[in-house]
Amino acid sequence: MRTVRALQRLRGVLVRPCPPPLFVRSWSVAQSQSFSSSSAEKPMPGNSMLRHLTSKIKATGPISVAEYMREVLTNPVMGYYVQNDMLGPDGDFITSPEISQIFGELLGIWCLSEWMGAGKPSRFQLVEFGPGRGSLANDILRVFSQLRGALGGAAVSVHLVEVSPKLSQVQAQCLTGDQSQVSASEDEPVYRHGTTTTGLPISWYRNLDDVPRGFSIYLAHEFFDALPIHKFQGTEKGWREVMVDIDPDEPGKLRLVIVPAPTLASTQLIQADEKRRHVEVCPEGGVIVQRLANRITEDGGAALIADYGHDGTKMDTFRGFKGHKLHDVLASPGSADLTADVDYSYLRRMAGATVACMGPVSQKDFLKNMGIDTRLQVLLRNCADPSTRAQLIQGYDMLTNPLKMGERFQFFTMLNHSRLTRPEPEQSKGGKKMAPVPKKGPAPLPVAGFSELGLS
Ligand code: SAH
Repeated sequence: MRTVRALQRLRGVLVRPCPPPLFVRSWSVAQSQSFSSSSAEKPMPGNSMLRHLTSKIKATGPISVAEYMREVLTNPVMGYYVQNDMLGPDGDFITSPEISQIFGELLGIWCLSEWMGAGKPSRFQLVEFGPGRGSLANDILRVFSQLRGALGGAAVSVHLVEVSPKLSQVQAQCLTGDQSQVSASEDEPVYRHGTTTTGLPISWYRNLDDVPRGFSIYLAHEFFDALPIHKFQGTEKGWREVMVDIDPDEPGKLRLVIVPAPTLASTQLIQADEKRRHVEVCPEGGVIVQRLANRITEDGGAALIADYGHDGTKMDTFRGFKGHKLHDVLASPGSADLTADVDYSYLRRMAGATVACMGPVSQKDFLKNMGIDTRLQVLLRNCADPSTRAQLIQGYDMLTNPLKMGERFQFFTMLNHSRLTRPEPEQSKGGKKMAPVPKKGPAPLPVAGFSELGLS
């Protein structure tokens, strides 16, 4: 089955309307702040995260931007992600799966296509990192359910890696209705489990290491941009780390400083041939990619990473979002989202040669290659309501327009090498000399999204 046929078989059911266009976290013309300035906003009175950070800095000195981000976003008690449901009209930003159901449907077809390209293994794990409100997984599972016949009897299971108990509840409601239970002990690797509304087993984990091994398709949409980055500045004395300190003029405020001496990070994380003067590195993202590469090599499968990012060219991209507006990264920490563009050249380097990497390609190209135009036409054909039709068209424009999300968002994949190689013909395997030259095995299926859609 090729993706076009899958698209034609997907019924034109309209499941959810698109929300009104809101702020997306892609790079905007206005930068949140220059790395060397201090926070412009007055701190919120009683900001417990700010108190926690200032006492930490008083005790040990300036902290790295990575530590600042980690505390602000994922501190188990006060962290932004732990406390908030930040997506949607009442939140701080909106993402592609929230904008249009077509996004998740096409990713569902991508997952199926990769499972087929791998020879239809009998067990198939769908693993998603940072599933937000669960909308992407929900749209994918609807595709799996509608194309059940194509999946044959494969045993499909769903595995979500989510740090936020609050968001895991929202995801469970979306994906299982009331069919999920929280684990008895906080220390359990599976902290929630249940059955999806489409009848599949589903589990929640805090870490990839806890997800069972086996053939898996891994998805990460707007996940890597939320992982902590270190920031470095090239100086006359060499690379120096940019850190977060207390502003000596206003002790209730934070500022960014360039520390005078090298740090472990500044000596380890910069490439010898680095040409930029300012660099952001996300070692946590690198470790996750290495673990994914190991799993894909040993167990089979593929990973699809989609985020706003660059290929090792951008410099100062660290920024904050609050209420659909850019927000000073140091002001009222814990009340706003923090993010940095994903450096795909770094991820590719960390993945190494054990897996095949493709991309990054722009979201516009990926979705067009996946058949977004065909899918939009099918949905419009099945929809008479003028306002829903307008929303579908608006969502399509938001996702693909180069001036909106079309160019800024990028897709990158890691695949098991066997996925791209022509299987050896049986006769040549024994090492015997054969004449004439045996025919090669069938060509592997193209990787959907990264090349134009197959039309058979
Ligand atoms: N993928 C969703 C949500 C993106 S927001 C979408 O596109 O709509 C980032 C998501 O990653 C949230 O669900 C957040 O709670 C989760 N997250 C952030 N840091 C994490 C970490 N270190 N480990 C696991 N999940 C994390």
